[in-house]
Amino acid sequence: MIRLSREHRAQLRAEAESAWPEECCGLIVGRKGPDGTEISSLVPTANVAGADRHQRFEVDPAAHLRLQRKLRGTEEAVIGVYHSHPAGPAVPSAHDLARAIEPGWLWIIVGLTDGRTGEINGFLHRAGGFEPVELGTGD
Ligand SMILES: [Zn+2]
Repeated sequence: MIRLSREHRAQLRAEAESAWPEECCGLIVGRKGPDGTEISSLVPTANVAGADRHQRFEVDPAAHLRLQRKLRGTEEAVIGVYHSHPAGPAVPSAHDLARAIEPGWLWIIVGLTDGRTGEINGFLHRAGGFEPVELGTGD
């Protein structure tokens, strides 16, 4: 189980609904330690997928680089990515699988129906696939 706080859940819902009918996206900052994965913040970035933004996402690479630089020397790192599926279930698409290149990254996907957030699901990217991971509020 990975803890996704109520605040972070609310943030994801707000970002997904305000980006709708396009996909929102951002990076997950946290730590991976012996006690598991801890999410400390969710950093929204522009979706630079161009005209495909309603069915694709691409994290702004410059924002990714800036964030990595900022975290250098701290105990935190970019540990994953989140995005929304404006008209689909909160499970990775074939496109997501094809784009997943960072082993061990946490993927959080927000599913929407008619512009309203439904499920928010987590997946760990392992060799060649996504493994579902429970996201709990921790309280
Ligand atoms: Zn997707």
